[in-house]
Amino acid sequence: MQLSTALHQGTRLLEDGAVPSARLTAELLLCHALGRERSWLYAHSGEPLAETAWIHYGRYLYQRLKGQPLQYITGHQEFYGRPFFVSPDVLIPRPETEHLIETALARAPEARHAIDIGCGSGAIAVTWALEKKQSVIATDISTSALVVAQENARQLGARVDFLACNLGSALPAGRFDLVMSNPPYIPDHERESLQKEVRDHEPALALFCGPTGVEIYAPLIEDAARLLRPGGMVVLEIGYQAESAVRALLGAAWSAIEVAHDLAGWPRVLSAQRTD
Ligand code: GLN
Repeated sequence: MQLSTALHQGTRLLEDGAVPSARLTAELLLCHALGRERSWLYAHSGEPLAETAWIHYGRYLYQRLKGQPLQYITGHQEFYGRPFFVSPDVLIPRPETEHLIETALARAPEARHAIDIGCGSGAIAVTWALEKKQSVIATDISTSALVVAQENARQLGARVDFLACNLGSALPAGRFDLVMSNPPYIPDHERESLQKEVRDHEPALALFCGPTGVEIYAPLIEDAARLLRPGGMVVLEIGYQAESAVRALLGAAWSAIEVAHDLAGWPRVLSAQRTD
């Protein structure tokens, strides 16, 4: 079978299974089975599909039809222009989280000592380290997530020190200029209305933290207040309906509160400065 035929058949299968972006998904799965880039595939679409690649391709199509996210099948997601390795142990980095990076770069340009709390794949910590050419500290309560994040730091050449702990509990007080975090913030009751790719495949620990979805922000903000030096900045990703609840948690210790919106217009990144 020619590669172009395999692509056509894969696309049809995915379309019949109502998988969005069927053609692109089939291309990426075929590339993954072949160990090739898409540009190679376009230039060689008349070549035959070898049997082992055919077996892999069939398995990947089946996994995707069963609801596995494409990124867990290929092990890959771009974030801030860089390739990150992902596995079901970590949340797949979202484009919205790039706003967190932009906010941190804009609001804490002089920061030298930064922390990423709940780093997951390491997307935030690794990106900060590479953009700023600095070392950074990253924590996560999940040791299997830390293994993925460590692999990303190694592959991308970022200087990140990893710590397994709850929020920032293992870190000393008053030493940091910047605390970044994309914590779990989906309310439990939204579980059923999530896409099955998210609900059934992404780590619940990285998505949910209680009935309202803002449960984690009280201890997180308390920890940020402890870790930051006066004048330091906290930059947090928030759920689309969480702005007022999270603002209400910021007491007198915080000033210069700003909220950045994502491309869909939702409040997405809250930043604030530690006053005293
Ligand atoms: N933004 C993610 C989603 O909508 C959730 C990430 C999170 O809870 N931090 O699926």
